[in-house]
Amino acid sequence: MGRDEAYRDRSVLIHGKFTSEKWDFQDHILPPITSTVSFRLRSAERGAQGFQQFANPEFDRETGHPIYIYDRLEEPCTGLLEETLAFAEKGECAVSFGSGMAAISAAIGIHVKSGDHLLYHPAIYGCTYSHINNWLTRFGVESTPIRMLCLEEVDQAIRPETRVVYFESPCNPTMELVDLEGLARLVKRHNEDRPDSERIVTVVDNTFASPYAQRPLTMGIDYVVHSLTKHISGFGATMGGVVIGPAASEPALLLYRKDFGGSIAPDAAWHILVYGIPSLAVRMERQQATALHVAEFLSLHPKIGRVYYPGLDSFPQRELAMKQMRDIDGDFAPGSMIFFEMKGTHEKAYHTAMKVCDHLASQALSVTLAVSLGQIRTLVEHPASMTHAALPPAAQAAAGLSPGGIRLSIGLEDERDILRDLEQALESA
Ligand SMILES: *Cc1c(COP(=O)(O)O)cnc(C)c1O
Repeated sequence: MGRDEAYRDRSVLIHGKFTSEKWDFQDHILPPITSTVSFRLRSAERGAQGFQQFANPEFDRETGHPIYIYDRLEEPCTGLLEETLAFAEKGECAVSFGSGMAAISAAIGIHVKSGDHLLYHPAIYGCTYSHINNWLTRFGVESTPIRMLCLEEVDQAIRPETRVVYFESPCNPTMELVDLEGLARLVKRHNEDRPDSERIVTVVDNTFASPYAQRPLTMGIDYVVHSLTKHISGFGATMGGVVIGPAASEPALLLYRKDFGGSIAPDAAWHILVYGIPSLAVRMERQQATALHVAEFLSLHPKIGRVYYPGLDSFPQRELAMKQMRDIDGDFAPGSMIFFEMKGTHEKAYHTAMKVCDHLASQALSVTLAVSLGQIRTLVEHPASMTHAALPPAAQAAAGLSPGGIRLSIGLEDERDILRDLEQALESA
């Protein structure tokens, strides 16, 4: 059974491939769920072939028939998930991981060695910050935080030993955007004079937007990483991560996963494949529509200073948002994440934000105080004291993370309930 190229992404993301070299399951509508740590090898010869084939650049994973050996190396549901995620991001290959952090450490890890240098935008996921500053430094990998909103600063910060330019867009939690095409062009220019071994790669964490709202590889970025735990899995029930990038990187990513052991569990891969990806577009559409109304409401509230949502006219990088945040039909897709700041001096704003969160935690049904994002439930959190507490106060300030900032991830509840719960919490603070 072939697949017509004319089918829209929305349909392909629901069906995936009817047949795949990964597995013969033509009579099932859903891929069967597997649970087998090791696989029977029909002969010693087949075993030898399997080991030879694994992470071998000569073996085409897309068209070759895989010989499965052991779950940590590769297994069918994971393979099917990877095919679909590569399609969603328009990438050549995808390698999945057990969590977003496992994927992020792999995307960086395959490109750096002792003595190398990495640039990162300071507004970044707390554990990514910690990975770069607490662990990579131990291996002799230096890094510099650099505000990537200004490409000239990036240009000047690139050193001969720079190998990775790492960032998020929109950033967590400030919603700042990095100009994907502009940054890709800049790095490409630097690479013109470099031998392959000294090439700089660009890596974007696309978790906030999801492939529904933005596909950075089509804009020249080298690698996309995701926490599948968020929008893509969508229900807050499964963890996962993925790196999507050029086909040439696939063997290194597979070896890294094999040796560091960050493989995704097969049943997690199955849940994301069967529930998460097929419902991504419809969830995002509805959540985004609600997010716009919530952002408009918040921006008019007297206790709130600023609201950062790419869908608002007042968004500082509105033009860039309109250019690069596009859904799978090409329409503007500002996503479902909102960041807003309570008014007042630092200390006062910090406490007001805590109060708003406390009120929601104790009184609200439609808004839940919890970290994570991209679930069907609306989640609220206070980055300064929670997700971004790993950043020292100076790093928080450099990242533009104000103490009174609150992050909202809009879910599928009735919009009127979300608005009412927020209104009452703001009233109480
Ligand atoms: C959650 C998150 C991560 C980490 O993903 P895990 O699946 O929790 O390991 C990385 N980046 C961003 C932007 C995230 O929101």
